[in-house]
Amino acid sequence: MPIPVYDRDKINRPFLDDMKIAVERVITSNLDVDHEVSRFEAEFAAWNGASFAVSVNSGTAALLASLLALGIKPGDEVITVPNTDGATSSAVVMSGANLVWVDIDPVTRTMSPEALKAALTPRTRAIVPVDMFGHPADIDQIKAIATEREIPVVEDSCLALGATINGRKVGSLATTTCFSFGRNKHLGAMGAGGCVLTESGDLAERLRKISEYGESRGRSWKKSGLGKDGWFWHETIGMSQRLDEIQAALLRVKLPSIEANIACRRRQAARYEAALNGSAIRVPQCRPGVEHAWRNYVIEVANRDHLRERLAEKGIGTNLTYMPPMHLQPAFAALERPRGSYPTTESICDRLVGLPIGPHLEDEQQDYVIEQLLVSVDH
Ligand SMILES: *Cc1c(COP(=O)(O)O)cnc(C)c1O
Repeated sequence: MPIPVYDRDKINRPFLDDMKIAVERVITSNLDVDHEVSRFEAEFAAWNGASFAVSVNSGTAALLASLLALGIKPGDEVITVPNTDGATSSAVVMSGANLVWVDIDPVTRTMSPEALKAALTPRTRAIVPVDMFGHPADIDQIKAIATEREIPVVEDSCLALGATINGRKVGSLATTTCFSFGRNKHLGAMGAGGCVLTESGDLAERLRKISEYGESRGRSWKKSGLGKDGWFWHETIGMSQRLDEIQAALLRVKLPSIEANIACRRRQAARYEAALNGSAIRVPQCRPGVEHAWRNYVIEVANRDHLRERLAEKGIGTNLTYMPPMHLQPAFAALERPRGSYPTTESICDRLVGLPIGPHLEDEQQDYVIEQLLVSVDH
């Protein structure tokens, strides 16, 4: 039996009966907006310990809406990292800002606070740290640097649902925190979805407008008293990026299982670490006080192509999330950051291999992955 990195069918099947009921509920609700969405937002905010949730239709939309709601505009500089999903850098460019990358810390593989400090200019208007693979960025240090200059922090937590720093979940630590419900994320929708969390009611209101045509109705249009019932009253430039009712209903079915999903990943990460530590494989490490969310279990090895081929022969799936880094991608060639620009990012991207992890992976399968890793790795 092959062991894939992801197995959406296996993960979603237990929810099938409840999902059918949820879909029927939406279809027979006259498609009135805002039954499931507002309930999902309240449940998701509560789960993360955040004050406000504004759901959108992808993690990319969550990032872009955050930047626009913060007033980012052409000529501003926004700092992020090159080792991430393409969406992070794309959202910065789409906001009109100048994209600035900084290198990462080799242990946590997240934004280096020292590199961040060195990259600040009087035009820096936002910082977008990424919780890479599910390890939260050093948000306390980054915030200390940002607060001094009153620069907002947009945390890309698309891979880090449920990760904690000193017992506090990501979601209420930054100015906004962005999540993805892409199919393979912790809380995977049956399609796409995303959410922004914030502690600021004003920002939440701006995020709602931006994700809904710039209209004031938001999700409380009945209360707004503006325009004709609050409709067709465009207060800002906006997009059509709301989460839809069906995805919200489906996500509500899965949300109660997320605690167990993350606990399962933590247990599997501990099993990998115990078995692989001391081998030629470099296993991921956590900063003290961090509980990782383990969306990805990413090892580093010297000859990864060879290792991946040998594992593939044994039916074991691996992946290369995320490489090449953004500065070496054609989309960002105009920034002219050649190889050598971000040495820590490059050395990790040259060596990384993602292993199967998650509720679809059974213990015997993981044992087999470990066994094959140990015999296949070059010493
Ligand atoms: C998945 C992901 C995104 C984009 O989310 P979508 O829902 O696919 O748009 C952004 N940043 C990171 C780090 C991601 O992993």
